[in-house]
Amino acid sequence: MSIDLQFDTNHLWHPYTSMTAPLPCYGVLSADKCMLTLENNQQLIDGMSSWWACLFGYNVPELNQAAKNQLDKMAHVMFGGLTHQPAVDLAKKLVEISPEGLDKVFLADSGSVSVEVALKMALQYWHSRDKPKSQFLTIRNGYHGDTFGAMSVTDPEGSMHELYHNFLPQQLFVSQPTISFEQDWCESELDEISAAVEQNHHNIAAVILEPIVQGAGGMYFYHPEYLKGVRRLCDKYELLLIADEIATGFGRTGKLFACEHAGISPDIICVGKAITGGYMSLAATLTTNKVAQTISRGKAGVFMHGPTFMGNPLACAVACASIDKLLAINWSDKVVNIEKMLNDFLSPCKTLTQVQDVRVLGAIGVVEMIDPLDVAIVQKRFVELGVWIRPFGKLVYIMPPYVIEKPQLKKLCDAIYTVAGES
Ligand code: PMP
Repeated sequence: MSIDLQFDTNHLWHPYTSMTAPLPCYGVLSADKCMLTLENNQQLIDGMSSWWACLFGYNVPELNQAAKNQLDKMAHVMFGGLTHQPAVDLAKKLVEISPEGLDKVFLADSGSVSVEVALKMALQYWHSRDKPKSQFLTIRNGYHGDTFGAMSVTDPEGSMHELYHNFLPQQLFVSQPTISFEQDWCESELDEISAAVEQNHHNIAAVILEPIVQGAGGMYFYHPEYLKGVRRLCDKYELLLIADEIATGFGRTGKLFACEHAGISPDIICVGKAITGGYMSLAATLTTNKVAQTISRGKAGVFMHGPTFMGNPLACAVACASIDKLLAINWSDKVVNIEKMLNDFLSPCKTLTQVQDVRVLGAIGVVEMIDPLDVAIVQKRFVELGVWIRPFGKLVYIMPPYVIEKPQLKKLCDAIYTVAGES
């Protein structure tokens, strides 16, 4: 049976598209390992891990089995007043592998919601201390999701703040760090954020940022010393630090969590995307005993959030299997190997006049063009070349499944070279 693409075009909204002039969509019949099979039976090598999520590609036996086993027991049960082993097991694993001190786990249903939860935790923390604060400080070119709180701390241009101007809380923004991951460090890089914190700390509930890798806001890798410096500033002025590891978590940058590049622990961390190996929507917000206890001893006495699908057993069971698999496959060697190959295979792009920059960190490869690309045209070209790569703006980037094979990765990088050369 074929997919009714016409109905899709007429009725289904896709991410960030128009309902009157939508970008074309390709029908997918199935997916296995690193290959997507389209309606016409064409096979594409997946370079996106379905937006950072599918660490082991698709149709992963252990994850299928975990979902099937759990399905026979219970697909879902409310989390208010009830609990279950998959949630307990997942919380144990998250506490164990996340940066030190993050011992209290809130299971959310998507990355954006986990960010909302983090913001609410910070606000309630100060409320409970009888020092209510109402603003967050963040860095430009960040991305934290599409719900309102998350949007308010996302780059004003990236999230089109002006569309929601009268509704969005106004947050404090400082410039994107300029020193990249591999450049020499200079302490003056911290001047702007230090001044902003010094002037506004009385009303700042937390600093929120994506550690090391700014994803959707520009695929930029900044210097670990910046993150260390922000941690020091937060300590000095007693601010909470929220690390949004939704994209970077679970090994993508070469460390299990990107905060490890700077050797720091945040007060609150958000994880999502790859938590279930890309099988279903789940996220988590972890915080310290101190934050959790302060919130719980405050006037409210409770933390005010509780989604219907909180701790969904199916998602938790798959997440447990995914984390077990990640820890079992020697992920670090795999990511180091992908990083080496990405450096080799993408370096010819540096010779192209249309290319501004080529950068690689862990299993993330980025080619930044001088001019923005026409997504519909470029997407079609990539499909013709047998790969699934979805560019945005000036950025062509890949973050393949960790199980990608060398010839597959070569083909992805060659396709980027071809398309960048033609643009
Ligand atoms: N934070 C970051 C860093 C992200 O990359 C994303 C997703 N692109 C989100 C938050 C939002 O997650 P979700 O799409 O699951 O709501």
